[in-house]
Amino acid sequence: MITADFHTHTAFSSDSEAAPELMIEQAIRLGLKMLCITDHYDHLFPEQYELSFVFDMDAWFDRLAECREKYRGQIKLLAGVELGLRDEPDVLPQCADFYRALAARYPFDFIIGSTHVLAHLDPYYPEYWETRGAAEGMDAWFAAVETGIRSYDSFQVYGHLDYLVRYLPGDRKNYRFSDYADRIDVILRLLIEQGRGLELNTAGWRYGLPFAHPRPEILARYRELGGEILTIGSDAHAPEQLAHAFDRARELLLSLGFRYYTVFRERRPEFLPL
Ligand SMILES: [Zn+2]
Ligand SMILES: [Zn+2]
Repeated sequence: MITADFHTHTAFSSDSEAAPELMIEQAIRLGLKMLCITDHYDHLFPEQYELSFVFDMDAWFDRLAECREKYRGQIKLLAGVELGLRDEPDVLPQCADFYRALAARYPFDFIIGSTHVLAHLDPYYPEYWETRGAAEGMDAWFAAVETGIRSYDSFQVYGHLDYLVRYLPGDRKNYRFSDYADRIDVILRLLIEQGRGLELNTAGWRYGLPFAHPRPEILARYRELGGEILTIGSDAHAPEQLAHAFDRARELLLSLGFRYYTVFRERRPEFLPL
């Protein structure tokens, strides 16, 4: 059974309104033993957007300390963050330095590295797709993921590897693993060599996709290449989304031959039976 949700957001994230206490109380109700809160921190998020995806880190750690006290003995709360990795050459060095300093200054248990912005655009909005087709968009995506993994040293697990597919124009189900297999192999091998991991992010199912992130062929390939570090996260932005489809995730992982999933404390991996 999966009793740890390692990708969750609260109102400290610009796109969530959930008080941390409500998320924690729901996690306790669901019987989770560990909850890692990983609010969004996207340094230099493009200014043309309304949301900024940054927050007051000191206030966040203070609130976490209050919650650890309030819910002591009921659930283990882990300090996480989801960093937005940028690959554009004009912002990458600044972001890498900023995140390195952030990771050194604060006692995070777990840091997710994710790509949310490409070519200074958030692909959530149609503008990204106005000048590129699906294949070109996806190609640029996997290139950005690879650059992010090569260039940033502050994270333990790469988040929602094929997240872009959520926003693909047209029939999103047409994205085929085989079209990107070589690129994905490079990415998976890099993570394994670096001693870092991948996450199974169940939000794909919540978004109505036929697969979670990343799709099962990628998880299977990761395992085939020797990948062992695999965290599981719902990417919940509201209490009712916590631990979404974790039973389905467990079945999927077992069917692919995984026997363990991973949690992190003080940025070190621990393996729990599925
Ligand atoms: Zn994300
Ligand atoms: Zn997230």
